[in-house]
Amino acid sequence: MGGGFAPLPNDVDSAYPGNAMKWTRKFSPCAYICLGLLIGDSDGLRPSAAQEPEPPVVDPGPPGGPPSDAIVLFDGKDLSAWQDARGGPARWEVRDGMLIVNGTGNIFTKQEFGACQLHLEWCAPPPEGRTGQARGNSGVYLQGRYEIQILDSYQNQTYPKGQAGALYGNFPPLVNACRKPGEWQTYDIIFQPPLPGPNGEIIPGLITVIHNGVLVQNHVPVKNATTAAAFRGPVAKGPLMLQDHGCPVRFRNIWIRPLD
Ligand code: MG
Repeated sequence: MGGGFAPLPNDVDSAYPGNAMKWTRKFSPCAYICLGLLIGDSDGLRPSAAQEPEPPVVDPGPPGGPPSDAIVLFDGKDLSAWQDARGGPARWEVRDGMLIVNGTGNIFTKQEFGACQLHLEWCAPPPEGRTGQARGNSGVYLQGRYEIQILDSYQNQTYPKGQAGALYGNFPPLVNACRKPGEWQTYDIIFQPPLPGPNGEIIPGLITVIHNGVLVQNHVPVKNATTAAAFRGPVAKGPLMLQDHGCPVRFRNIWIRPLD
């Protein structure tokens, strides 16, 4: 096609008789480069690029991460980043690279987080006749307060604000992107916490959730703790919580990137 500097066809030229289009056609490559040099740009094409700070380099790792700057919360080996509700050792089962809910209660990260990008992978157990909220129920609570529901929502009827990917009780997922039970699923969550305002009010936070690569929460406001939260009230930082809802949901590859 001749690239961006190819002469324009005559019919285009004739459509703008005697106007600036003709000048631009003849002089544009030289003119733009000279203009760039005059205003001090390094390559003449991207004004002020030389003054911008260079973004840090991050190795994204394999598909699904963890990126090189992430805090790994579970790498398939141990629960050293986690504790139980009383601050004792987390007792969920670690087997074959998986973390498995086993009825010993919710678990919490030892470290606390504010704004963050979170990745986790989960897998619902076989339904075995269970339906609705009893089927593959768990949840990830940002700051131990705000639950993104984990549920086997594959061909499983329940109320929309309680299905997989819901900000529980607040916003249903935009779509149901659930895989079959027994298949691994991904959550990628971008979270900005609600914060206490100067007059005792709550300044809402924001949550975006991508389930199996599909957007299910698009920058929705989050204000109050959801049902069965461990804590209430807005805070700058709080622990991540995984819910024990009595279903042997499995987890793997959990990492977080603080954004504050
Ligand atoms: Mg739940």
